[in-house]
Amino acid sequence: MGILEVKDVGKRFGGLQALGDVNLSVKENSVHAIIGPNGAGKSTLLNCLVGKLIPDTGSVMFDGQSVLGRSPHEINQMGISRVFQTPEIFGDLSVMENMMIPCFASRDGAFRMHAVKNMMTEKDIVEKAEAMLVDMNMADKRHMHADSMSRGDKRRLEIGMCLAQEPRLLLLDEPTAGMARADTNNTIDLLKQISDERDITIAIIEHDMHVVFSLAQRITVLAQGTPLVEDDPENIKGHPKVREAYLGE
Ligand code: ADP
Ligand code: MG
Repeated sequence: MGILEVKDVGKRFGGLQALGDVNLSVKENSVHAIIGPNGAGKSTLLNCLVGKLIPDTGSVMFDGQSVLGRSPHEINQMGISRVFQTPEIFGDLSVMENMMIPCFASRDGAFRMHAVKNMMTEKDIVEKAEAMLVDMNMADKRHMHADSMSRGDKRRLEIGMCLAQEPRLLLLDEPTAGMARADTNNTIDLLKQISDERDITIAIIEHDMHVVFSLAQRITVLAQGTPLVEDDPENIKGHPKVREAYLGE
C-alpha cells in the first residue's frame, strides 16, 4: 500500500471526460512523476488530491484516510502540501517575512492563535523561519524583496514555505515551467536534497523529461485522462505506447 492511493477516479467537466478511471499508487518516501501531453488531466488529478476539485467517482486515500469530502485546508492539515504552477509568494514582503507565514502554522493547527496556544513564541517562529532559509540555501537573501528574485529563487522560497508546514506529501505542478536551464538544474538539486534528507514523499507533474528522469523513481503516464503505463524510469523511456502518446511518434 502506498501513502497515496488513487482508485478509479473520474472527473467530468460538462461534456468533457477530463479523468476516467485513474489509478495511482505512490510509495512512501519516493519521488513519483506524473507525465503526459497537454490536456491529459494532470492538473485536474492534482486538484482532486488537494480538495480543490471533487472527483465524480472513485476514491483518494492518504495514509489510510479518505481525503474526499474534506476542504483544502483540512487536507493540508493531514500532511499534503502543494506547490502551485505560478509561485504563490507575497512579492511586497521580504524573503524572511514570507518564510515566517507558514511558520505560524503547524500541521495540526491553524494560524497564529494555535501557535500561541502551543507556546510557540515569536522567537521560536523567527528561529524556525531562519532555519528553513538556511536549509533552502537562502539565508543571504533574507532581506530581499521576494519580487526582486529570479524565477528559480521564487520557486525555491515557495518550496521552502511548503516544507515549513512539515508535510508528508509534497505535490508539485510543473515546478520548472518557464525557467532558464540553470534555474531548472538548481530546482532538480533542491528536490533531490529534500527527498534525500527528509522523511517526505514527492509527487511531481512535469513536462521536462530531463527533470523527470533526474528525479523520479516511478513514473505514471497519463493520456486523455487515463493512465497509460506506470513503471520505473528505464522502462518508461523506451515504451512504445509512451513514445506514441507522449512524444507523438
Ligand atoms: P494538463 O494539466 O494535463 O495539461 P488539465 O488537467 O489542465 O490537463 O486539463 C484536462 C482537460 O480538462 C483539458 O481538456 C482542459 O481543457 C479541461 N479542463 C481543465 N479544467 C477545467 C475546468 N475547470 N473546466 C472545464 N474544463 C477544464
Ligand atoms: Mg497542467
